[in-house]
Amino acid sequence: MASQQPLILQKPLDQTLSLKEYRRLGGYEALNKVLKAYTPQQVVQTVMDSGLRGLGGAGFPTGRKWSFIKKEAPFPRYIIANTDEMEPGTYKDRLLIQHNPQALIEGLIIGGFAASAEKGYIFIRPAYEQGARILEKALEEARQAGLLGKNILGSSYSLDLVLHRSAGRYICGEAKGLVHALEGKRPHPNIEGHLAGEGLWGQPTIVNNTETLSYVPSILNNGPEWFQNLARSNTAAGHKIYSVSGRVRRPGCVELPFGTPLCEIIEDQAGGMQPGYEYKTCLPGGASTRFLPKQHYAIEMDFDSLARLGHGHRFGTGSIIVFDHKTCLVGAALNLIQFFARESCGFCTPCREGLPYLRDLLRRIEEGDGKDEDLPALKSMAGHLSHAYCAFAPGAAAPVLSLVEDFREEIQEHIAQKGCPFRQDFQDGQENSH
Ligand code: SF4
Repeated sequence: MASQQPLILQKPLDQTLSLKEYRRLGGYEALNKVLKAYTPQQVVQTVMDSGLRGLGGAGFPTGRKWSFIKKEAPFPRYIIANTDEMEPGTYKDRLLIQHNPQALIEGLIIGGFAASAEKGYIFIRPAYEQGARILEKALEEARQAGLLGKNILGSSYSLDLVLHRSAGRYICGEAKGLVHALEGKRPHPNIEGHLAGEGLWGQPTIVNNTETLSYVPSILNNGPEWFQNLARSNTAAGHKIYSVSGRVRRPGCVELPFGTPLCEIIEDQAGGMQPGYEYKTCLPGGASTRFLPKQHYAIEMDFDSLARLGHGHRFGTGSIIVFDHKTCLVGAALNLIQFFARESCGFCTPCREGLPYLRDLLRRIEEGDGKDEDLPALKSMAGHLSHAYCAFAPGAAAPVLSLVEDFREEIQEHIAQKGCPFRQDFQDGQENSH
C-alpha cells in the first residue's frame, strides 16, 4: 500500500473509505499482483511466512489454516469472513467494516484465491445493520469495478461474495456453529473434524475473522518480513486493532503494533483513567479472558506474552475492558456470566447447567446472601466448564476463575459484610458529583 502505517485504519475513523479512496491508498494492488503472478500455494506460503494469526480470539496461524485445504481437495470450496462479533466490550470488527470495508473484501478475494474457493460469505451480526449496509454498498462497488464476480480483473479466477445476516446468537460466531447457521440448522458446534476437510455443506471451507482477513492485502503488497517486523515483541507479527472500554478518558479503537505494552495503550492512547478513578484490573482480551492482576500492567500485549503468564491467561481479541477501583468485580463477573448463560447453545450439560449455577451463586453473593462454601463451589464449577464440548464454556468461566483465584478478597468482603462493599462507594460518588 502507498501508506504503510497504519495498515487498515486510516483517519478520520468515523468516515467510510470509498473504493476510490481505498485504491488511492494502494488498495487492490495486492489482488492485482496475486492474480497476475502468484499460485494459490505461493499466497498461502506468503501468509504463513508473515506470522499472521487469527484475530478473532484463538490466534491460530492463518497461513497454516489455509494450508489445510490441499490441492486435491474437492470442489466447490468456500471462504467465510466471521463478522459475528457478539462479546461484550468487543467492537473492533464493527469499526473496521464501517471504516474500511474494501480491506475485508480484498482480503476475502485473496483468501478465496488461495483456497480456490468459488463462493464466499460475510457472516455478520444482525445488530451491525449499519455495517451491513456499508458492506452491501462496498460489495456492489467492487462488483461494478470488476473486482468481484466472473473473471476478476480479467483473470481466470471468479468469486461470488454474499453478505449473510446472522440470527443473532453468540454461538453463531464459533466457526462450526457458524457453518451450521449458514446451512439453516441450529448452530450447535458439533461438527467433527476440521472445516477444511468438511465444512459448509460438507465441502472444504475456511473461516477467518474479519480483522485477520483485512490484513492480508498489505502482507501481499509489502511482503511477509515487513509484516513480521512491524511488531514490537519478538514472537509476534504485525499490527492489531486494540479496543479500550471502561472508565478511561478516551475509550475507542486504535491500531498499534502487536506487543505494545498494556500501560501505553491505556495511558497514551486511551488517555489514562478518568479523574477520581484508579486502575484496578482489566480483561485484556474481551469478556472471555481472565482479569489481569495489576502487577502485569506493563505486559506486552500479544498472544505469547499473555500465554506465558500461565493459569489460563489469554490474549483473546485484544479488547481491553478496564475496571477501576470503585467497580465491584463480583458484580462485573455476574454481569458477564448472565450474558454467557443466556447465550449457551445448550448442547452439552456442563455449559447448559454450569453457567446458570455460576450465575445464581454470584447473584447470591452480590446480593448479600453469600456463604463461605460458595467460594470453593464457584471454583469447582468454573473448573468443570473446561469439560464442555466447545471453547465457549471455558471462555465464559475465565473471569469467574480469576475472580476466585486473584481477587478472592472481594468475594470474602461480600460474604463478611452481607452485601456489596462497593455500593456505598458508588452512592458516595454519585452524591459527590452533584
Ligand atoms: S460448551 Fe456451551 S456453547 Fe459449546 S457446545 Fe456445549 S452447550 Fe453449546
